[in-house]
Amino acid sequence: MTKMSAALTALIARVRRWGAADAAVVPAAVVVVDDDLARCCWAPRCENYGRSAGCPPHVSGPSGFRRLLKDYRLALAVRIDVPASALLSSERDAVMAMLHDIVADVERTAVEIGFPGARAFAGGACKRIFCGAHTECRVLSGKGTCRNPDRARPSMSGFGIDVSRLMQAAGWPGDYLGSPKATEDGMSWIAGLVLIV
Ligand code: SF4
Repeated sequence: MTKMSAALTALIARVRRWGAADAAVVPAAVVVVDDDLARCCWAPRCENYGRSAGCPPHVSGPSGFRRLLKDYRLALAVRIDVPASALLSSERDAVMAMLHDIVADVERTAVEIGFPGARAFAGGACKRIFCGAHTECRVLSGKGTCRNPDRARPSMSGFGIDVSRLMQAAGWPGDYLGSPKATEDGMSWIAGLVLIV
């Protein structure tokens, strides 16, 4: 096993230790960025639009992400399987927080093992997930740094990242939870992305 594949295997194992999660390596070039998906943040306007440093218009958007992608060869797609009912309940923020925690952990670990440019992206808005009790995002208010630097990561939505196609590129068909058994169990999924090298 090469040093690179050993490192990637270790990162995947780290994600799997979270239990409900899995990860797969994909070429960075297969990550699809769609301007129309990013547009969904403001048309119709999301309640989190403009409320944190991790959401539009305070992120570089599709054009910035396309530029960033050119500097990477490999990425890790991260998936959490979750009951669909949890995403429609008060549990949703805890599930999304776990996704942020996982990708932030992968990013940190990747940096430690020799990939200093690792960058993580999650789903969901950090303002709602981590700072719902605060009136303002501390970064946007100019009153300090992020309250959750070890956890909160930018939302993929604001960059127009096509998550369904990311799932397919990872070898998880977009409808892989659409099987009769999965439907019976009412399962769904959420996803994140870590650019590695
Ligand atoms: S301070 Fe809160 S809302 Fe602002 S970027 Fe950090 S986690 Fe997000």
